[in-house]
Amino acid sequence: MRNYRLIYVTILITFFLCLANQKHFMSKDAHLEEKPAFPNVDGEKIVLSNEEWKKKLSPEVYHIAREKGTERPWSSKYEHSNEIGTYYCAVCGNALFESDTKFESGCGWPSFYKPISKTSVIYAHDKTHGMHRTEVTCGRCGSHLGHVFDDGPPPTGLRYCINGVVLDFEKAKQAEEKYNLDQTKTSEH
Ligand SMILES: [Zn+2]
Repeated sequence: MRNYRLIYVTILITFFLCLANQKHFMSKDAHLEEKPAFPNVDGEKIVLSNEEWKKKLSPEVYHIAREKGTERPWSSKYEHSNEIGTYYCAVCGNALFESDTKFESGCGWPSFYKPISKTSVIYAHDKTHGMHRTEVTCGRCGSHLGHVFDDGPPPTGLRYCINGVVLDFEKAKQAEEKYNLDQTKTSEH
């Protein structure tokens, strides 16, 4: 009799353990579903529908980045900035331009003569507004950044005319401080 009771209790415990385990995994999945910043990451690239972008971006950034809008000329705080650092895509954080490739073009938008790398931006033929222009988009998230023209200074002769709204800037000094802080944290462990 005692043996039966022992088997019964063991089965009961196993049953509850299984149930608890399943609940644990289920809550983990639910957590994963609500959390990720970019759920449809295709390798390095970020692919989201316009509806999803709309939820993530401010109306101003959404208009430029996803609807190929153009900010008012001479409205960007970055146009005349000559601080040393890196310009990133404000949508996805992809590094786009170094400050030492920035120049005063007088065109009303932040201008650069070279992107950080060949893959940091992607080009497309733009035939809108009765013009033939080369559109520049982010190499990682495909957001519209601006256009490139062939009237820039040496060494490339190019002028990347970029909307400041879709740029984020990090001063070299801040980046260095952050790096040093990370190093200190790592060495503490
Ligand atoms: Zn981007």
